[in-house]
Amino acid sequence: MFELDQYLQDLKSEKIKLAVGVQAKIIQAARDFLTKEGFTEILPVIISPITDPLADYRVRGEVECYGFKYQITKSMIFHKQIALHTFPKIFCLSPNVRIEPAERKNSGRHLIEFVQLDLEVREASREEIIGLGERLFSYLIARVKDTCQEELKFFGRQLPDFIPPFPRLSYQEAITSYGENFELALSRDVSQPVWLVDFPLEVREFYDREDAGRPGVLVDMDLIYPEGFGEALSGGEREYQYERIKERIQKKGISLEAYDLYLKFAARGLYPSAGFGFGIERLTRFVCGLSDIAETRLFAKKPGVYSL
Ligand code: AMP
Ligand code: MG
Repeated sequence: MFELDQYLQDLKSEKIKLAVGVQAKIIQAARDFLTKEGFTEILPVIISPITDPLADYRVRGEVECYGFKYQITKSMIFHKQIALHTFPKIFCLSPNVRIEPAERKNSGRHLIEFVQLDLEVREASREEIIGLGERLFSYLIARVKDTCQEELKFFGRQLPDFIPPFPRLSYQEAITSYGENFELALSRDVSQPVWLVDFPLEVREFYDREDAGRPGVLVDMDLIYPEGFGEALSGGEREYQYERIKERIQKKGISLEAYDLYLKFAARGLYPSAGFGFGIERLTRFVCGLSDIAETRLFAKKPGVYSL
């Protein structure tokens, strides 16, 4: 059922107008920051024979074109790696479609269509990308505080200054302190963003790089918001060597055939790289202090709900 009256009322509300206005300024600020840092913005890929496997999402979202099967982008991870042949530092405002389980309808954090600020840097280490993420995050918050005073007042939102470096916690430490489902418990417990590092191989996709000195541990990270807003971004160093990628795909029980085209690129050589994907709607939710992510964009699609 599509509730047209409610939908129109929401579209005309001051709340959504101001939240989307803040979001537009965040995007502008991110573009300014990354351009100054030497990044080139590339256009998003919407359909491709390959996309992020994201094993949790059973629906593949396939489109048939001219008898070939394309998938709707779940993330541009592989395209980012391949795009580094052209530019050393790239970013993209990349729309992702992930058919989240309907139970996530009221999580406040999940949409089935959302946008990532997705970036990747040739020859970068995790350390460098953590540094970049911290500078980007503090810059965005400072710009919002400077340019969105009226909006923040409307939302009753007081944002502190977030000064890097942010604290770090390993995945194992997070489990020990907060249990298996640590994301929200950890996020509620901290008053500044915190990096989660060193995820075990089993809980991530095949493209995050395994630490050569610590088998089973990945050179990756998440940034967790304070105040219970949960995960802000995920990233890491990437596997880039053909044999390693093949091995990691097989370890996941995924058929090599499904990634044939990606493997062909890998066989010809990929750059070592690191990067992350930063959810724009979640960032807007955090900045405005909103309980529901659906209030951060027009045409928001919540899991399990029929929407425009
Ligand atoms: P991932 O690679 O799955 O960690 O996704 C990268 C980032 O995109 C996450 O850290 C979130 O900020 C954002 N994100 C992931 N899934 C969703 C979703 N269903 N709705 C809104 N934002 C999302
Ligand atoms: Mg993640």
